[in-house]
Amino acid sequence: MSTTWIKLNAKALYLMKGGTNEFIEKVDLVPKLELLTGATVPTPIAGKFSLNIPARWFERSDAPGQMAINLTDTSEPSAFKTTTTPTAATPSTFSKITAPSGEEFAFIDSRSAGTSEPNLANFQPNQALNDGTLLPRYYFKVNDFKDFSKKLTTNFTLLEFISDTEIARGITFPYYIPVAIIRLADSMQSLRDRFGEPIRVSSGYRSPFYPDYQNNPSFKSAHRFGTAIDFVSVGDRIIDSQADLDFVDDKVFDGGFLGGGNRPSGSSSLGFEFTESAAEMGFDIHHSHLDMGYITQNAELIHVKDFL
Ligand SMILES: [Zn+2]
Repeated sequence: MSTTWIKLNAKALYLMKGGTNEFIEKVDLVPKLELLTGATVPTPIAGKFSLNIPARWFERSDAPGQMAINLTDTSEPSAFKTTTTPTAATPSTFSKITAPSGEEFAFIDSRSAGTSEPNLANFQPNQALNDGTLLPRYYFKVNDFKDFSKKLTTNFTLLEFISDTEIARGITFPYYIPVAIIRLADSMQSLRDRFGEPIRVSSGYRSPFYPDYQNNPSFKSAHRFGTAIDFVSVGDRIIDSQADLDFVDDKVFDGGFLGGGNRPSGSSSLGFEFTESAAEMGFDIHHSHLDMGYITQNAELIHVKDFL
């Protein structure tokens, strides 16, 4: 096996297939933001970029041996396509994912979707964040606004799992949602059943269109992976005090609570891993955040295997 090589140009850092000018993976350069004197919002600084080199590139059996640098080159090399030997059940053979409600959605493997899903690239599938964590690979497709009103579970619609901020800004269809949302909805239904009262959700999945990520494309949040939920009330109880957070965490972390602010925050038979503490909200408590971690690539299929 020939070794890979690394290419750095004005756009990105690429892991290149040996003996070709095609890339296997890339990390986009992120404009460096600095808070200028007197400003309240950080500004991108011309000519300054940052990125984290994914350590796994050097753990490959064909680890890179050389690097080429051309900072005036703004062209994008083409992606290296592996020739796959057909096997009985490759992930891309899934055509649908079925929510606990029985609603079915078109299942999309972003690595094989190609040009048939032109809007998919805007969701930045498989793009590496600065710490090397890749954004999700598997999505389901929503064709128009009517699809958002579909039920995922007895008590939750898909609309509740999409960021209000994004909806308010306007959504372009088709829209793609990480498959992990289906598992999250199932766990939220179980939590609702434990409370025996409605849960009012304020945010779930946030795509790269979400304003914070437009400003900081490498911002790491479980909301980008479809594994995080924020909710503002349970029945008549508005979540705005430490006692309210404790009330929720008691029900969620039934296997023992280690405390908010640590990952994991405890053990939950519902599959939750983390909750935000009051300190993380700057002691301005206005919701409960729960998430299942940064589930990505093959782990996504394991996470939703009951629904494929
Ligand atoms: Zn949150």
